[in-house]
Amino acid sequence: TLAFFNGEFLPTDSLVIPIDERGHQFGDGVYEVIKIYDGTPFLMREHLVRLENSAKAIRLEMPYSIERFEELIQEGLTRAQLRDAQVYVQITRGIATRLHSFPDVPPSTSMTFRPSKSLTEETFNTGIKVALLEDERWYNCYIKSLNLLPNILAKQAAADRGCFEAVLVRDGYITEGSSTNTYAVKDGVVYTHPANKRILNGITRAAVLQVAQESGIEVREEAFTSEFLLAADEAFLTSTTAEVLAITHVDDTVIGTGTPGPVVRQLHAKFRKLIG
Ligand code: PLP
Repeated sequence: TLAFFNGEFLPTDSLVIPIDERGHQFGDGVYEVIKIYDGTPFLMREHLVRLENSAKAIRLEMPYSIERFEELIQEGLTRAQLRDAQVYVQITRGIATRLHSFPDVPPSTSMTFRPSKSLTEETFNTGIKVALLEDERWYNCYIKSLNLLPNILAKQAAADRGCFEAVLVRDGYITEGSSTNTYAVKDGVVYTHPANKRILNGITRAAVLQVAQESGIEVREEAFTSEFLLAADEAFLTSTTAEVLAITHVDDTVIGTGTPGPVVRQLHAKFRKLIG
């Protein structure tokens, strides 16, 4: 597979990141994952704007303009000859002798271009199980930072219980999944945590909430408790890679009928139309 590091396209295997790269030593950077459907990057501009906002939030200069990033991503896709792909974009505070305070060096940019790992249609048709776990992350979850240790630990704890995702609970309220946004449906209304510092404002989340509103489905961006989730008619999660995916079980509790309900099925179908 193809990669990019600081101006050069190279095979992934040949890349050696210097030891003193700050992404590597401190997780001092931000990232994005963009999905490419049949040669067309989906919501690429939105992802790059979020990258810019994440960079700003950690006082990191963007190494390229959004337009230049778009060109580099298109070039990578052409070079890799990929039509259905996932592009990973990471920027960090650069390469400098290890010291916590900011170095006076240019930022680093890394990218990888890989075939997309899509879920099977069967997964979408049956839905998935999630585990509830304590949200042990920091208070700036709106930044798409490289520091993913709490997310990784939660995802693995969920996987150990045979679950697809960890749904996180902070002060009794559902925030989001370890790498997804979380929703409950009650009496035809879609509930999801407001886009504040406690969650990552998903690009898929924004698209799906718009699709819901256009379909006449009421949306309330309100935090809800784990009890509310367990008693919901339907539940689902969204992300760039998981699209719109029904949650049919939360630990040992069956949600609704235990199969993807009408609201999630409608939202996924309309989301797929948006993809084209
Ligand atoms: N929440 C977290 C913590 C994430 O890491 C992600 C994506 O990786 C999402 C939500 C979903 O965001 P998006 O729809 O932009 O992929």
